Parts: sequence; structure tokens; C-alpha cells
Amino acid sequence: MRKVSETEGNLTNLTTVRSAALSCIHCGQCRVPHWPAKGIYYVCPVYKTEYTAKFEPFFARGKNIILKGLIWGDLSLNKEISEIFYQCTLCGGCEDFCHNAHNENIEFANHKWMSMVEVFEALRADLVEAGFALESHAAMNKAMVELLNPYMQDNKNKANWISQLNFKIKDANSENAEILYFVGCTAALTPQIQTVAIATAKIFNKLGVDFSVFGANEICCGSVAMRTGDRKAFNEVADKNAKLFAERGIKKIVTSCAGCYRTLKKDYGKRLEGIEILHTVEFLEKYFEDSNIALNKLDKIVTYHDPCHLGRHIGLYDAPRNIMKKIVTLVEMKTNREGALCCGAGGGVKKGFPNLALEISKNRIKEAEETGTKTLVSTCPFCFRNLSDGIKALGGDIEMVDLVELILKALT
Ligand code: SF4
Ligand code: SF4
Repeated sequence: MRKVSETEGNLTNLTTVRSAALSCIHCGQCRVPHWPAKGIYYVCPVYKTEYTAKFEPFFARGKNIILKGLIWGDLSLNKEISEIFYQCTLCGGCEDFCHNAHNENIEFANHKWMSMVEVFEALRADLVEAGFALESHAAMNKAMVELLNPYMQDNKNKANWISQLNFKIKDANSENAEILYFVGCTAALTPQIQTVAIATAKIFNKLGVDFSVFGANEICCGSVAMRTGDRKAFNEVADKNAKLFAERGIKKIVTSCAGCYRTLKKDYGKRLEGIEILHTVEFLEKYFEDSNIALNKLDKIVTYHDPCHLGRHIGLYDAPRNIMKKIVTLVEMKTNREGALCCGAGGGVKKGFPNLALEISKNRIKEAEETGTKTLVSTCPFCFRNLSDGIKALGGDIEMVDLVELILKALT
């Protein structure tokens, strides 16, 4: 007879994805895949670093063994398990390359495919509910709920970038517009990344797009809480945002942050029914096509970093590349698209394990340097931030830019 663990009663979130959590066959594909034709040389960004002990729990197979131990009652939730599961960026690499996760012959109770990200996030939610959240994450999520941003800043600072524009933009709090530009906390509050918000607003203004922003009243999308397992905090901000959008009659949201995009599009579920969610590159690719907008070719050779939340999590690989093909010369990195190495920041790793985030970032920057290009492009302010840290740590001369900055140049 199956043993019942002391904590099984607390595995309320993991229980909802129980069949998926038990489906790993321990083949090890998620540790050493090799598929050069698809740009796949390794998968787990954590396992690839020298930061961790480099044994089973530091890639998906080991994590799945622990999950079985918890479900079958051989293990209980504890601090060590928390430390292990939070040393994962939730990049989704293991999920994409697990043959079992995409096996049509396996029936899961709640969904078609086994989602490693969903399973790991469920365990994190149980860890938080059992009191095993990382202290740094708990403080971040508390700030997110109380201050409406996880950076522990006065939310008024979210309007600072707007004062750098020499044109007026609509205030979503009181003015109606076709599009809400959802800036996201990182681009709004990190001075060196405000260029993303400024360039996006300038592009929209140049194109005559009718848009508004909430400025100081923009509420964090809740991504940080969802990824780190604080579902109570996530639900609180998600409900606030959904109410705000409904009150203001928002019908279309465009965001330049891959994390906000994934969260609003996937994690909000029915809350945003009837609202179209687009990433800036997705919106602009279609806009340029429909309106036949001429773009200048810039004298630039660049390489592109696929943000996990845009690529593996949503499958948006072509839109940024289609725009880049028109305005620059793109040289792909050794790993790209589905196989792209994560930047290292996601899943709460930047906050919980900054040195691990930096090591992963340095590995990604080395790949960018191998292309021989001098410009690294991304489409996510959070990737921008961590990759910039990697460039600095390596003392490299590669320039970090967001695609919107190049688009703005190609429009002038
Ligand atoms: S997660 Fe998938 S790829 Fe990794 S060991 Fe399990 S079955 Fe194999
Ligand atoms: S989600 Fe990414 S970081 Fe986490 S175990 Fe899978 S490959 Fe490694």
C-alpha cells in the first residue's frame, strides 16, 4: 500500500498536476540533449554552470525524482528542497526537449502535454504555503502587493520616463485609447532600461498609434509572484489589474516585456477574456505589414537572444526575426529559438541566487561573443538587465539593446 507522507495533505497545488509530475521516465534527455541541426547543444542553464553541485537535483530529472518522493510519501517539504527548486529559471528548456512531455500516447488528467514549468511552479506554491519561501522572494512579493512593484520603489517613479518625452501621451487613468501600452516594472523603474519604454512610445507616436499608459498607477502584472509560488500575492495584483482594465474599458494591451506578456496572456486566464494581449514586436510586425511602412536598413550586424517567456513559453520566434531581417543583419547564436540558452534571470533566480543568475548570463554572453557581432538584441527588459550584468562582469565590449531601439532608428 502507498505510504502517505506527512506533507501530502499540503501538496494541494502539486496534486492538481499529479499525473504530469509522475510521468518522468528518468531518461536523462533533459541533461545531455544534442541536436546541432536545431541549435541544441545543452538544455538546463543551471546544470551548465559551475555554480551548482552539478548532480541530479540541478536539472529536471533529479527534480522529478524529488517530486515522486514527495507524492509517494518518502520525502517531506523542507528548506533543502526549497533551495533546490528555486535554483531553476523555469526556462522551459527541459519541457521542450523531454520526449515524454510531448508523447501523444500519454494521457494526463488535466492537459495534453506534461508541462515541467507548470509542475515546478505548483511545487513552489506548495513550498510557499508550507512556509518554505525564500526570504528574498517573500520580501519582493510583499513589496509587489504593497507598493505595486517588486523593486521596492515608490510606484510614482513609474512615470519618470514619461517626462523624457517631448510629446504628450494619453493617460490611461482618464483618457481612452485604442491600445494600452503596459510598460512593466523593469522598463519603467530601471533607469538604464527606460530606453525600452521611451523608444516604444516614440515609435507609437511616430506611427500615429492611439495609445495610453497608466504611468504611476500601473500595477505589476504579478509575474514575479506567480513564478516564485506566491499565488496569494499573484491573485491580489491580477485581480486589481483585471478590475482596472475592465473599469477603463481596455480592449487591447501591448507590452514590451516578455514576462508581462506571458503572465497576462497565460496566467491571467479568464480574467482578461475579451482583451487582446500582444508583445510589441508582434504588434509592430503586423502593423508594418498592414500599413506598408518603409524601414531603413541599418548598417548593423547583430545577434538575438530569445527571451524564454516569448520563445519557449509562447512560441514567438519569428516576429522579432522578421523585423530584424528588414532592418539589420542577423547572425544566430550557437543556441537559438527552442534551444536558446536562458539569460539566467527568470523564475526568481536573479533575486534568490544572483550569482547563479550572473554565471548563466556570462555563458549566454560568451555565445553572443562567439558570433563575432558587437550588438546583442533582446525583446525583454528583464533579459536586458541580466545580460547587461553579464557583459559588465566579463568586461566585454558587446552592446546590449532592445529591438525597439533599433526599430526606432530604422524609422527615422
Ligand atoms: S524530464 Fe523528460 S527528459 Fe528529463 S529525465 Fe524525465 S522523461 Fe527524461
Ligand atoms: S526549467 Fe530550465 S532551469 Fe529549470 S530545470 Fe528545466 S531546463 Fe533547468
